[in-house]
Amino acid sequence: MRFDIVSVFPEFFQVLDLSLVGKARERGVLEVAAHDLRDWTDDPHRTVDDTPAGGGAGMVMRADIWGKAIDELLAGPARKTGEEEAVAQGRATGGRSARACSRGTGKLREGAKRPNTVPNATPEAFRAVLAIPTPSGTPLTQRACERLAGQADRIIVACGRYEGIDARVAEHYAGRGVEVFEYSLGDYVLNGGEVAAVALVEAVGRLLPGMVGNPESLLEESHSAAGLLEYPVYTRPVEWRGLRIPEVLLGGNHREAARWRRDRSLERTAARRPDMIAGLDARAMDKKDRRMLAELGFMANRGSSHPTPMRIREAGPADAEALAALAARTFPDACPAWLGREDMDAFIAENLSAERFGEYLADPHWLVLVCEDAGEGGTGFAGYTLCLLPEADGAAGIEEGAPVNATVDGVVRDGPLVELSKFYVDRAWRGSGVSGALWRATLAGLSQRTRQWREPFVWLGTNEGNRRARKAYRKMGFAEVGERTFMVGDEPNSDVIFARRIHVA
Ligand code: SAM
Repeated sequence: MRFDIVSVFPEFFQVLDLSLVGKARERGVLEVAAHDLRDWTDDPHRTVDDTPAGGGAGMVMRADIWGKAIDELLAGPARKTGEEEAVAQGRATGGRSARACSRGTGKLREGAKRPNTVPNATPEAFRAVLAIPTPSGTPLTQRACERLAGQADRIIVACGRYEGIDARVAEHYAGRGVEVFEYSLGDYVLNGGEVAAVALVEAVGRLLPGMVGNPESLLEESHSAAGLLEYPVYTRPVEWRGLRIPEVLLGGNHREAARWRRDRSLERTAARRPDMIAGLDARAMDKKDRRMLAELGFMANRGSSHPTPMRIREAGPADAEALAALAARTFPDACPAWLGREDMDAFIAENLSAERFGEYLADPHWLVLVCEDAGEGGTGFAGYTLCLLPEADGAAGIEEGAPVNATVDGVVRDGPLVELSKFYVDRAWRGSGVSGALWRATLAGLSQRTRQWREPFVWLGTNEGNRRARKAYRKMGFAEVGERTFMVGDEPNSDVIFARRIHVA
């Protein structure tokens, strides 16, 4: 890979003699030459700019000067030729001055002569790219750098100054079949393209084989194929100014450390670059990734191609229809296999119609939370909870079997007994972490509403045969405190009663 950088400040690129890039140049992995644009001028003042066509402030860099420079660089020199070696050793004569060249010592060589052109050399033969830094370019990304590292073997970087380079330069070379890459370092304006040229050399150069000592270090980096920002990194001393390295990294359990790192990567990316989360491949995620993402406000299931932002909120009157549709879809999942469709439908018609939801939503004793897909073209509700709050420290749902006298964790209730009447997640979103996120939001909502009480409880009943639900409720901190018979249509169902304290995490 060879970089030819053209600038009115070629001395700037002495910085490329340092560090990894400098070493790579010494080893011949990378060649870098800096050229003075003014060497292609013909007037005594070595002028490279002129006033903008159409008027306006500042000066524009001239296409004719840039054209001469780029033509000559595109034409040669060929890589790894005797002539090139001569450049490195400062023996070649004629042509323009190349201020830096990697062969030989690898050090920047002021005034070293480079040969004129190599006959018959074409841009195709070099797989050359004309890179033009500009704040109006496409953002320089890791993907773009990977492509350049893999496909180009000659990159000519044209560093603008003033108001930039006459637009015909990019147009002309693109028309001649040269790949023109107009790139931006970010949404801010620098004085010149030199910093952007150094950034390109570093970012592309470190991806070349032999450049980075341990290529594995490239795999987990920010913006690598995983599409995440890197997790926080630490080294000795273990304790510094009262801050300790997280224990999980000190324990020697590599699996746990890897999970911790993965979670921190997801967390950091969600906080700093939510746009990157939306670009992740959801099919490559495991259940733990999906759970973590749900905690961070994104949802993905096994069928999703990308995670989408999730919103959990209190439902309003306008949600009654959609809630009824979700409730009708999900209720049968919690019923035992032997229960007839007619009984389920009777229950749904009586308790879960849009009209009934309209009533719940109008009554301040009901707390209804929904989890919805808040992405562009969102797929609607993924789950909901429906809680009934009693007056003062009373019990909600006494006629449904509320465990009025139950103790939990050996603690006696001191405050209201809330009924978690419904907690459903659509089948498509099971295992996505949606239910955990919805439950945490519900518990937070209940805690807020019962904050003046010392020890409020929440209770629920679930079908005895529904082992999946029973296991899930235990995980959510509920304890089995009793039984009841619950009518679905005309059929009596045996339910288990669960309860938990509201104010404990
Ligand atoms: N008038 C130009 C505009 O508004 O787009 C800005 C010109 S800037 C002052 C001069 C040169 O700095 C540009 O030609 C480009 O080479 C470089 N430059 C400035 N900001 C840059 C950025 N964010 N990324 C890449 N190059 C940049």
